[in-house]
Amino acid sequence: INYQLARFEASYGTVEQLPEPTTPEVAVAGRSNVGKSSLLNKVFGRKNLVKVSATPGKTANINFFEVDGIRFVDLPGYGYAKVSMKERERWANLISGYFDQERSFNVVLSLVDIRHEAQKLDLEMVGFLKEQGLPFLVVLTKADKLSRGKQNQQAALLSRQLGVPRDRMIVTSSETGQGIDELKSRIAEACL
Ligand code: GDP
Repeated sequence: INYQLARFEASYGTVEQLPEPTTPEVAVAGRSNVGKSSLLNKVFGRKNLVKVSATPGKTANINFFEVDGIRFVDLPGYGYAKVSMKERERWANLISGYFDQERSFNVVLSLVDIRHEAQKLDLEMVGFLKEQGLPFLVVLTKADKLSRGKQNQQAALLSRQLGVPRDRMIVTSSETGQGIDELKSRIAEACL
């Protein structure tokens, strides 16, 4: 995959607007502030292609990026506390509406902050992916905030809590680039 070809495709606010699936898709999900925009920019090798939001959860849209014939689907970050019930409902509908469509889900990247215990919404997300039998990887973010020893400890803990085998988890940092090459090769494998 030639990531130099990464380009913003479009942004959608309702499920009905989503274009037909015509290419392999890599969907990216996670709590608001988990580091999703930073990770995508790191993978794309671009500073600002994906907007790192100053106000988390401000834009509840699904953003499509096109990279060398593969579509990256940036799902709205979930779990941001300071929004209205109505707005939260809209996000939930967007995310579940996307997964309800018959799309080519080559791999779903479920982002989880490595520093914390599994949160309720992360458990729900991963539970949903397992239930649906979708191919997914858990991407642990912000690894640079922990020592290597602590990273291993947290990865083991989250593997247990989420019920995901350790080899389906990748430890990453958008700050240091840790795990990014591994993530890229797992994405390429999934899109063959
Ligand atoms: P999003 O809401 O999931 O898109 O998260 P952002 O990419 O906007 O990141 C949220 C905050 O976490 C920002 O202040 C980032 O600078 C920070 N952040 C994101 N990734 C990393 C990382 O790998 N390491 C560190 N130390 N900070 C990160």
